[in-house]
Amino acid sequence: EMFGQLTSGLESAWNKLKGEEVLTKENIAEPMRDIRRALLEADVSLPVVRRFVQTVSDQAVGTGLIRGVRPDQQLVKIVNDELVKLMGGEVSELVFAKSGPTVILLAGLQGVGKTTVGAKLALYLKKQGKNCMLIAGDVYRPAAIDQLVILGEQVGVPVYAAGTEIKPADIARQGLEEAKKKNVDVVIMDTAGRLQIDKGMMDELKEVKRVLNPTEVLLVVDAMTGQEAAALVTTFNVEIGITGAILTKLDGDSRGGAALSVKEVSGKPIKLVGRGERMEDLEPFYPDRMAGRVLGMGDVLSFVEKAQEVVSIDQYEFPFFSLQNLLFDMTARIEQMRQEDAEELQKKIMSAKFDFNDFLKQTRAVARMGSMSRVIGMIPGMGKVTPAQIREAEKSLKVMESMIEAMAPEEREKPELLAESATRRKRIAQESGKTEQQVSQLVAQLFQMRVRMKNLMGVMEGGSLPALNN
Ligand code: GDP
Repeated sequence: EMFGQLTSGLESAWNKLKGEEVLTKENIAEPMRDIRRALLEADVSLPVVRRFVQTVSDQAVGTGLIRGVRPDQQLVKIVNDELVKLMGGEVSELVFAKSGPTVILLAGLQGVGKTTVGAKLALYLKKQGKNCMLIAGDVYRPAAIDQLVILGEQVGVPVYAAGTEIKPADIARQGLEEAKKKNVDVVIMDTAGRLQIDKGMMDELKEVKRVLNPTEVLLVVDAMTGQEAAALVTTFNVEIGITGAILTKLDGDSRGGAALSVKEVSGKPIKLVGRGERMEDLEPFYPDRMAGRVLGMGDVLSFVEKAQEVVSIDQYEFPFFSLQNLLFDMTARIEQMRQEDAEELQKKIMSAKFDFNDFLKQTRAVARMGSMSRVIGMIPGMGKVTPAQIREAEKSLKVMESMIEAMAPEEREKPELLAESATRRKRIAQESGKTEQQVSQLVAQLFQMRVRMKNLMGVMEGGSLPALNN
């Protein structure tokens, strides 16, 4: 498991804060030692670890607890945010030339996966509709040229090769001319890797760079080499000037040091990561997702973010006024909805169209999560919820579900129909074997949820609760 050791090292930090009520200089001392040890074991460089631990400590002690959030949860959030920053914050996109072909020069030591990356990158860009060409520039290893030609065929991208009896800078010149003739969008040049950095290699790269005037100079580094990767990026940047790094072999049991250190140490972002031997295994480097993987605590994070949001919305009452509503709120986050679903739901809420179908979907999402007690355990102030209360809540979700199932499609879509007609409510009560009062409550609850969700979205006008007509 990638980052497995780091993740479990950090876990012991959170665990030491369980039962605490605030974050103080004293009670974070031990957890911070765990964090420090975990990062060092992950092969993050010492100065980076020092700065990181200092920043996190300052924040933990200096900022008050978010209302309703436990100290350990808040520390998870602080560490997460700092990890994201450490890795550069935002995803760092590839830059394309405004006119003429975009030229990407790949550099790196031997065996790091540079040739493979060339072909992977060509496929990656081809999928974005770019017309690509590869240039085989590793003239010291005939096998490398053959390898690139084979990989190029595999991904359906032409490879410019001119054998080994030619200077890399000349191949670069010829290849670029060829690319211009063919109106290629992106040219990717593979270069020779040595086992170690040496002057010959650097001089050659400088010359190739001068010839190509590349848009991107990317250093390919192996994640397995930990902080050494960060040092290499620094050296190459100082020597030849690079625009970023590509981190390979993140699928191996990399301890994380490289991913965490490169940006901080070298000032250059990791732009892409390789996560396997297949040609498809190359993707952008997302600092937030990477931090998420390191921590493995997505649900805590979304909870704290939620609490932060809640605090910033004045009219929002906290704690929540009913267990069910609270669970629905939580689910919307935890369920990691597909983007489209989340957007659709948001639109519905904004236009007050949130109906019983959506209600049902959320109810079922809660059920799918299985253990409601796990969710409740994460909710501050809910620690005293008894198993009996949880069973009660689960039962009431079932009751709601059976009432919604008894509704006609148009009633599900237009809850107003039910608010307006006692006859309809009576029919649903009969069909679902519940009381009319229960049906009325359910209808009222839906409108309450509309109002609350609208408020949550920051819409001030909100809606008003319709009175139930008889
Ligand atoms: P080069 O000497 O830098 O050109 O390295 P190659 O491209 O020949 O790759 C060296 C080895 O690493 C090959 O066996 C690749 O299949 C493997 N490799 C490259 N990238 C990755 C990766 O992201 N994950 C894994 N597991 N293997 C990789």
